[in-house]
Amino acid sequence: MPMRYGVKVLSYLSAYKALAVATLGAVVLVTLANLLAPWPMKVLIDSVLGDHPLPGILTGSYFAEHPYVLIAVVVAAGFLIVLLQNGLQVFREYVNTQLKLRITLDFRVDLFQHAQRLSMAYHDSTYSGNLVYLLNNQADAVAGLIMTVPTLAQSLLTFIGMFLVVVFIDAQLALVSLLVLPFLFYSVRSYSSRIHQPLHRVKDLESQTLSMIQEAMSMLRVVVAFGREKHELNRFRAQGREALDARVDVTVRQSLFELTVNLITAGGVAFVVGLGAVHITHGTLTVGELLVVMAYISTIYQSLGTISSTVGSLQDQLVSIERAFEVLETDPDVSDRPGVGKFVSVRGSVAFEGVSFSYDGQVGTLSDISFRVEPGEFVAIIGPTGAGKTTLVSLIPRFYDPGKGRIMIDSTDIRDHSIESLRRQISIVGQDPLLFVGTVAENIRYGRLEASHAAVMEAARAANAHEFIQRLPDGYETLVGERGARLSGGERQRISIARAFLKNAPILILDEPTAFIDPKTEGRVLEALNTLRLGRTTFMISHRPGTISEADKILVIEQGRITEMGSHEDLLSGEGLYGEFRSILEKQVHT
Ligand code: ADP
Repeated sequence: MPMRYGVKVLSYLSAYKALAVATLGAVVLVTLANLLAPWPMKVLIDSVLGDHPLPGILTGSYFAEHPYVLIAVVVAAGFLIVLLQNGLQVFREYVNTQLKLRITLDFRVDLFQHAQRLSMAYHDSTYSGNLVYLLNNQADAVAGLIMTVPTLAQSLLTFIGMFLVVVFIDAQLALVSLLVLPFLFYSVRSYSSRIHQPLHRVKDLESQTLSMIQEAMSMLRVVVAFGREKHELNRFRAQGREALDARVDVTVRQSLFELTVNLITAGGVAFVVGLGAVHITHGTLTVGELLVVMAYISTIYQSLGTISSTVGSLQDQLVSIERAFEVLETDPDVSDRPGVGKFVSVRGSVAFEGVSFSYDGQVGTLSDISFRVEPGEFVAIIGPTGAGKTTLVSLIPRFYDPGKGRIMIDSTDIRDHSIESLRRQISIVGQDPLLFVGTVAENIRYGRLEASHAAVMEAARAANAHEFIQRLPDGYETLVGERGARLSGGERQRISIARAFLKNAPILILDEPTAFIDPKTEGRVLEALNTLRLGRTTFMISHRPGTISEADKILVIEQGRITEMGSHEDLLSGEGLYGEFRSILEKQVHT
């Protein structure tokens, strides 16, 4: 993992200094309690039951004369230490959980924010399931990595403290206990280097699974219409099976690693016990001391085991962190320049000056587009499918930035002001309006979150939506399903027009807003749109001759270029596509 990630990871800790200090405090206290734990037993066995002298501070004291009191005190001390250990455990658990969950939330929020900022081009080229998986399953990696610090610190402190005490009791035993270290070191290293690749693969596969669920659910109508449920199910099962096999493989490797660590430490314990017993028979060690040494050694090995498995599991966190930072470090191609100003109440003139744009892997999606629209003008954009009409209008709210040229609003380059303030000046009504799960009123209010109920109703009236909304079971409070599944296309479109009324932006983009609407409701929708565009600079992609002929300006786009431009009358006399288009459409209308 690159070092710079380390610095970023630590920056998440800076907001929680007090909690971090409490965690480390708990670590020190737990270590001390662990160090104390075996001593009461030692005193009991050696000096109360056996005939060794009492430890220094107790010799010649009141306890030397009163062995029963000493037993009571020693037993009570043992009990208190266990109580202390457990109390500290609860405290540590509380502090750690707080710290871990807060950092996870902060990191998740950052990821969410960044995902929203990334450009359309990024989202066009990635599975959204990847982001869902990252936010859902991997956002805890930063906190996980940070929380390995107290675990490692505690194990390391315990290890060092106990090792020193053991050296003091029996240096030979202490040294022998270290024999396991090279074995542990080697197994951690070999595990870490081998698990990296499989972990990446598992995470790729698991995020693909999420993407598949997401796609299948959002495409459910198509799936059902083609009767492809079985096909989708098989695809899902096969992919799930692959992810499962990869996960099992990783789990087996992880368990084998733990088994190896446990075997190595068990070998160490056996060796130390054997040697300790020999020392007792030689009289260089008391039984009580061997007890302390054994308690310490088993804790030391536990600590070594914890260190090894923590370092081993770090790989998992590191892989997640790498993947998360890859996303966080993806620059939003479309972003604010430093120190930009804000658009405030623009008049609405729009000019394209030599604008060219290509999607990744394409050339000339739009080439050298130049035109100018005055405030309040109505522009119709026509042309064959794939000509670049939608792309052209998506450059205005900066869903993409042009490769060449510039776009001006009120004589200001749109990149000179903040994206947020730019988008506030633009309302978009698309072909297939999307609604959120929630009430009709909430969906309209999305246009202006602080709007009053009266304002919502007024917008609905203007959008010809009030009547049908009132006929819904709960009126404005009726819940609409995901994407508005419980309403007809025409109804959803009128709700999205009401949203635009409420937003009241000076520039309006209409991308074939009646494309999916049945002829019966089309009239109502068009009426609402005509009211909406009054006084607003309007770009409308359309195939309807009636609408097009009302436009102040018509842009004809073919293969990414403007081939004709002018009013209906100007273009009718021309030889170009518009003349052809008119006559074909008129014939269709008349037959
Ligand atoms: P129109 O609106 O005139 O039908 P578009 O602007 O949607 O045309 O598309 C213009 C060209 O760009 C087409 O060749 C289309 O395949 C391509 N295109 C559209 N959207 C994307 C995208 N998100 N990524 C890559 N290519 C795209």
